[in-house]
Amino acid sequence: MLRSLASPGRWIGRVGAAALGGVLALALVAWAAEPQAPAPAAEELHDYQGVIHCHSLWSHDSKGTQEEIIAAAEKTELDFILMTDHPSEHSLTKALRGRHGRTWFLAGAEVDHWLGIDMRRRTRGRGVAAALGDLLEQDALAFVAHPEEFTDWDLPGYTGMEIYNIHADLKAEDVFRLASRAPRILFDPTMALPSILKAPTRNLKKWDELNQRRRVVGIAGNDSHQNVEILGRKIDKYEVSFGFVNTHLLASELSGEAIRDALVRGRVYVAFEAFGKARGFTCVVESGGETARMGEEITLAPGARLAARAPQAGSWRLVKDGQIIGQGEGNGFTAPLDAPGVYRVEVRTTWRKKVWPWIYGNPIFVRGSGGR
Ligand SMILES: [Zn+2]
Ligand SMILES: [Zn+2]
Repeated sequence: MLRSLASPGRWIGRVGAAALGGVLALALVAWAAEPQAPAPAAEELHDYQGVIHCHSLWSHDSKGTQEEIIAAAEKTELDFILMTDHPSEHSLTKALRGRHGRTWFLAGAEVDHWLGIDMRRRTRGRGVAAALGDLLEQDALAFVAHPEEFTDWDLPGYTGMEIYNIHADLKAEDVFRLASRAPRILFDPTMALPSILKAPTRNLKKWDELNQRRRVVGIAGNDSHQNVEILGRKIDKYEVSFGFVNTHLLASELSGEAIRDALVRGRVYVAFEAFGKARGFTCVVESGGETARMGEEITLAPGARLAARAPQAGSWRLVKDGQIIGQGEGNGFTAPLDAPGVYRVEVRTTWRKKVWPWIYGNPIFVRGSGGR
């Protein structure tokens, strides 16, 4: 099962699709003669990466066109974008939906502290609780946006939260400090977002605390607006914020249903792609002959272990119930597990001679044999 999670499956899918035209005739001939190839295992998953929380010209605070968004998605090789415009007359009726180029779009909104994902209509109620109720009623998914300002954590029914938000980092910047860094940022735009990045320690603490009592899926909020300028130059163009941090989903295919399913199940990790391409990262718990992926539950058995891999070397941290209980270096990390708990891993990596946050995996829930 571990093997089926890694990127090779995805490549086989791509190469297969690309070659399909060329070999179709041959395949039809072979079809009659050869016994049918076994169908892929039901749980075969691919690693899709994309952007959650994106604004366009339908938001009051962005002028970004849909053409610019599609082009930037192409350039940064995004598989999906979950649009979340501030509600306006056209924010849902004219929103990007379905496939455009290589990217799958779902339409939604940022409303009353929520990211509503895959919405059909605007919410009617006002306030945090009413908006959540309306999102759930129309079968949209709800994620907490800007957790640093959020207080209504005990409301039922939401799927997850942003564990990182680019715009929150920008807003937390001191204008003078930012101005002092302007020459460097203008000289080298790839430094713009790294130079404001702060490790999301408070969000992670809240996230870990919540996962002790309910399941809360962690995502990155790109909050892309393409509206921040220094000395007349945009420092947050779509291609910059899209390429900086991504949310990865382990999904059976690229479709609205499969995207929703991966999100709901927590088969998700967050990666700062600017510091290293993360596609192919895996983290599982093996216990009693079973394997649990991120977001899944498993029962603790003797010899249980966590096993994770990343496409380049990094410094690993194993977090159990909000506490760091293990560390390691390299492309992979394994640890024996001898107690029930909520386990997740973090990876840091080196970029331009500095150590940066890189990957945050969603937790795996290890239950005691008594069901704890
Ligand atoms: Zn906005
Ligand atoms: Zn926003």
